[in-house]
Amino acid sequence: MHELAIGCHLSAAKGYAAMGQTASSIGATTFAFFTRNPRGGNAKAIDPVDAARLAEHLRTQGFGPLVAHAPYTYNLCSAKQDVVSFARRAMREDLERLECLPGNYYNFHPGSHVQQGSERGIALICEGLDQILERGQATVVLLETMAGKGSEVGRSFEELARIIEGCDKGDMLGICLDTCHVWDAGYDVRDDLENVLDTFDHVLGLERLKALHLNDSKNPRGSHKDRHECLGKGSIGASAFASIVRNRRLRELPMILETPNDLKGYAHEIRALRSWAQGEEP
Ligand code: FE
Ligand code: FE
Ligand code: ZN
Repeated sequence: MHELAIGCHLSAAKGYAAMGQTASSIGATTFAFFTRNPRGGNAKAIDPVDAARLAEHLRTQGFGPLVAHAPYTYNLCSAKQDVVSFARRAMREDLERLECLPGNYYNFHPGSHVQQGSERGIALICEGLDQILERGQATVVLLETMAGKGSEVGRSFEELARIIEGCDKGDMLGICLDTCHVWDAGYDVRDDLENVLDTFDHVLGLERLKALHLNDSKNPRGSHKDRHECLGKGSIGASAFASIVRNRRLRELPMILETPNDLKGYAHEIRALRSWAQGEEP
């Protein structure tokens, strides 16, 4: 077994190569970043030299695939036509820009249907994805499992499966499982991890699971809140994360921390996860 691909969310403000340097400085071997300012707005053009420097760093330092994150402001199933068109155009642009960094992932929140109902929400998401995805693109797009806050779509494995089944290009999609979100959605990743993975396999197929977001939760299971906590300080608890990094069905996946931390805190969590994977107890 090779080393775990673990990392955290990093700021893209200083460019791509700088993210690779920062990741290595905290012991990370993957990372996440926003493809543009999370509050929307125009995307900076990617400097191909900067991207090539990062690609070289990832290759020589043995990084796993990166997991770029679409801004939270995209909503493919808003009731407002302009919001939907913006999300479609912006995702298409993000994927075009990621072509200079091939072989990575791009994950996004399926959307919030805002009183239109999940049926209509799913139909809009599918229509959008069929426009956005292009056969032969260098990036795999991942749907994120959601906590079910408000009218979020993707609150259950079944809803995610309906999105994939409803897209003509559904075979191109994968899933990013967020531990805080699935816990808040009601899945018991603390005391019944194997059963949750069996259910995932049954409903979606484990071959679709491409990345993990490792977050503890501030709230009890099934709360539909989506408030991340540092590992071991929330209701999921450290021993659940030890089981996750040791799990033969999960340990090969890129694992991204989105815990409320600074870089020092992330370095500490990455070190802890690596030691738990080696059999140390939390
Ligand atoms: Fe997310
Ligand atoms: Fe997440
Ligand atoms: Zn979240």
